Amino acid sequence: MSIQALNERVKQDLYYLAYGGAEWVRPIKAEGEHVYDVVIVGGGQSGLGLAFGLLRERIANILVIDENPEGLEGPWDTYARMVTLRTPKHLTSVDLGIPSLTFRSWWEAQTGEEGWAKVDKIPRGEWMNYLRWYRKVLGLPVANEAKLKLIEPVREGLHRLHLEGTGAPAERLLARKVVLATGIQGGGEWHVPPLIQQKVPRRFYAHTSEPIDFERLRGKRVAVLGGGASAFDNAQFALSEGVAEAHVFVRRAKLPRINPIRQMESSGMIERYPALSDADKYAVMSHFYKHNQPPTNDTFARAAAYPGFHLHLGSPWLDTRLEEGAVVIVTPQGEFCFDFLIVSTGLVSDPTLRPELLLVEGDIARWSDRYEAPPEVASPMLDAHPYLSSGFAFTGRSEEGQRRLHGLFAFNYSVMVSCGLSASAISGMRFAVPRLASSIADQLFMDDKNAILTDFYAYEDAEFSGEWTPRAQTQDEIGYSAG
Ligand SMILES: Cc1cc2nc3c(=O)[nH]c(=O)nc-3n(C[C@H](O)[C@H](O)[C@H](O)COP(=O)(O)OP(=O)(O)OC[C@H]3O[C@@H](n4cnc5c(N)ncnc54)[C@H](O)[C@@H]3O)c2cc1C
Repeated sequence: MSIQALNERVKQDLYYLAYGGAEWVRPIKAEGEHVYDVVIVGGGQSGLGLAFGLLRERIANILVIDENPEGLEGPWDTYARMVTLRTPKHLTSVDLGIPSLTFRSWWEAQTGEEGWAKVDKIPRGEWMNYLRWYRKVLGLPVANEAKLKLIEPVREGLHRLHLEGTGAPAERLLARKVVLATGIQGGGEWHVPPLIQQKVPRRFYAHTSEPIDFERLRGKRVAVLGGGASAFDNAQFALSEGVAEAHVFVRRAKLPRINPIRQMESSGMIERYPALSDADKYAVMSHFYKHNQPPTNDTFARAAAYPGFHLHLGSPWLDTRLEEGAVVIVTPQGEFCFDFLIVSTGLVSDPTLRPELLLVEGDIARWSDRYEAPPEVASPMLDAHPYLSSGFAFTGRSEEGQRRLHGLFAFNYSVMVSCGLSASAISGMRFAVPRLASSIADQLFMDDKNAILTDFYAYEDAEFSGEWTPRAQTQDEIGYSAG
């Protein structure tokens, strides 16, 4: 099968499912302006999947915005540096159960069944190519180079979005529902430890999420801080680009080996997580974060095969200083000198850190507002997460706050404690996207409930048009009924 034939199959599958039926949400205007039913911020896999999920719910007055140029959304073709995805290839995601929309069918359309059999894990760039195809074949409404700067609550259930960028349809637009599908760091920020941020000049370090000029680092010594998958991805990438030495520094004495995501993928822990009690959710996430996601075996083997690869276990960075144009790192195992540092210390989720939430951040309930964790699991990092509904909606610290937040949804890693490993990562997408689409649809329905019910009770359109004209009875029928 060719891509053209697959495109036709997608169309036919959607046609068989009566996709694209009439919208049911009532159009509204405010201040004479168009009001979107839903604006999705972020055109990565989450934003695209949700747009399709909403269209399947017959909610079509939607817009996706993304700050990047078309085709460069998310990490895949920008700052991710692993050769393949870390996820098992058989997991389905944004296809939302339509076989012709899966990565596999897209891949087989180009390489045949043998091509699929040859794939161990999905090549990173091909995953991005698949997302580009997915957006195109579904004709999803995405405006690129449009960045959300600020959400301004206008009244309950109406938000003014302040945008910038050459692709923004306007500087301001109105939306009833706003979803922050802004990436795994989109509920907070990438974390750079203070001893780097405050003591090392900017030209000497980069976070793994930033562009790095590896050309400039050829033949140099590079230190990578962190023991998770990204640290090793970056070490192997740096070595493949010609750095002389890449040293990975891990705080723990042993490398992480267990990947709890693999257990969660098969145990119901991803799809059923929102049903857990608050105490269980908190304990589960505390346990989850104790494990770091280990490197994949192939990334580790690739990095370790270079003579310039070095691993330092039990080596937290205690201090840093600049000496003769290089950075000295102090660890319990001694001091080491490097030309450049790559920081792979993950992210923190906290609405306080988000500029677009400036006007509503104080209204957002956090876990610390709703749940007091027992000392053995209590963590300020978990406490700072927003306390969301099981449908990803922000909840208010007060009734007034709740009104201002009505219609705002998070779909990034800040959902972790409330909704589990569902938003963003591929493993959760097929469960989380329909849950979110349904939660948004429920809210729209309940917002318009009075008008919808009024119409329901007033409804008098006749469907049945049959007429019954009694026939004249025959003599036999008359005799029979007379007894
Ligand atoms: C290096 C790396 C490797 C990963 N590998 C895997 C893996 O192998 N398997 C797996 O399951 N998961 C993996 N993940 C996790 C997850 O799958 C990815 O982060 C994925 O890209 C998440 O998709 P998303 O759509 O939620 O966010 P993204 O793909 O990050 O897309 C969010 C988009 O929103 C845009 N945006 C953010 N803020 C604004 C704003 N204010 N206005 C407009 N646009 C905005 C961003 O620029 C971005 O384009 C990885 C993550 C990283 C960082």
